Amino acid sequence: MLPRPDGRPALCRRFGLHDTVKMHLIPESASRPGDPIYVLNAEATRRARAGESIVNATAGSLTEDDGRLAIMPTVFEALAAVPPERAAAYAPIAGEPPFLEAVVRDLFGSGPLATRAVAAATAGATGALHHAVVNFLEPGEALLTTDYRWGPYDTIAHHTGRRVETFRMFDAAGRFDGAAFEEALLDVAARQRRVLVLLNTPCHNPTGYSLDDEDWQAVVRAVGRAAELVPVSLAIDLAYAHFGASDPRHWVPHAEALAGVALLLVAWTASKTFALYGARVGALVAVHPDADERERIGRALSYSCRATWTNCNHAGMLAVTALLEDERLRAGADRERERLRRLLGERVAAFNAAASHAGLRYPRYEGGFFVTVFTPDGEATARRMRELGVYVVPAGRGVRVALCSTPVARVPRLIDALIEGVRAAGSSA
Ligand code: PLP
Repeated sequence: MLPRPDGRPALCRRFGLHDTVKMHLIPESASRPGDPIYVLNAEATRRARAGESIVNATAGSLTEDDGRLAIMPTVFEALAAVPPERAAAYAPIAGEPPFLEAVVRDLFGSGPLATRAVAAATAGATGALHHAVVNFLEPGEALLTTDYRWGPYDTIAHHTGRRVETFRMFDAAGRFDGAAFEEALLDVAARQRRVLVLLNTPCHNPTGYSLDDEDWQAVVRAVGRAAELVPVSLAIDLAYAHFGASDPRHWVPHAEALAGVALLLVAWTASKTFALYGARVGALVAVHPDADERERIGRALSYSCRATWTNCNHAGMLAVTALLEDERLRAGADRERERLRRLLGERVAAFNAAASHAGLRYPRYEGGFFVTVFTPDGEATARRMRELGVYVVPAGRGVRVALCSTPVARVPRLIDALIEGVRAAGSSA
């Protein structure tokens, strides 16, 4: 940092700061941390390149057993078929209408929610969550989500002047804690003028848990009670929709029970659905029975698009529309995704067999990119595992294990390191 040539600058003097050029960044931005997952992933990659034998179970993309990113060839056929002059043009601000219609159909088919939906294209589910936070919470208000959660929920909330409050996700038996959810929800509803609930299911990141019918019934009951007090928006982060053990539309009948009670928001993304993480194609879908309110929501979302990215990746949107709507392309993508699901399923089965045999504690895990293994101290467990050349991500009183990037052959070493990491954390706790 360079001292200013003219000595102590007036602004530094005024605010009592040192003679440095620190002043350009506002204080809040001056000490932003790096993304912890990317930092760990980079360290694991560096050690592996230097010749060490490393198991890197940090990265959140599905890889083949040889470590290459798993891709779906039909997706690239669809991308290659996008006419250049359309790809090069700006998309409409809120997204191509056929894309938005295709996403709504993908979510709800021809069911009743499809006719009550309004949507905007977003930069992946991340963009959808951003738009949910800035439009359905006022600055200073908190969203409510699970204690185990994807870190960027906090980043988005803090970056936009909102907050995060959490409830205990699991009860003593390791099931979704519906009672803790209801208590926290009613508590927030008593303190705020509105509530935004954010739930990630199926295949919750970082725990792997998918809400089952009983869990969903508890959610619907609690939301119904809170909605008697204040307007409630229930946002479902469907990032891993196609990697759960049950039908991707398994949750829809439960959501139908909330129609007219709460606003339903869905974060949809092509990132995992089409193994197309970098294209940044997604959507926020809002379901409301009132056409005027839908119109207002549509304009609000469009305004947020303009204020962030103006419009999203046009080529990606056009290709994904074709993948969702063209029968042959859709069938090809479904087949290719099914292969990826099976690849992941083998890893999940290998993990479940070895982890339960080893007595590791983790939630019900039936599919999905990640699972969280409980431990007295996630940081200590991950640290000990790194000494053994195995990288996982600390997640509170647990560590997140990315089976999406761990081949079956590496599972035994992963389990051995987990056992040792949990033991080390227990003995230092
Ligand atoms: N939600 C969860 C729980 C995630 O794990 C991710 C990505 O890792 C996202 C949302 C956002 O993904 P994208 O913005 O690529 O759609």
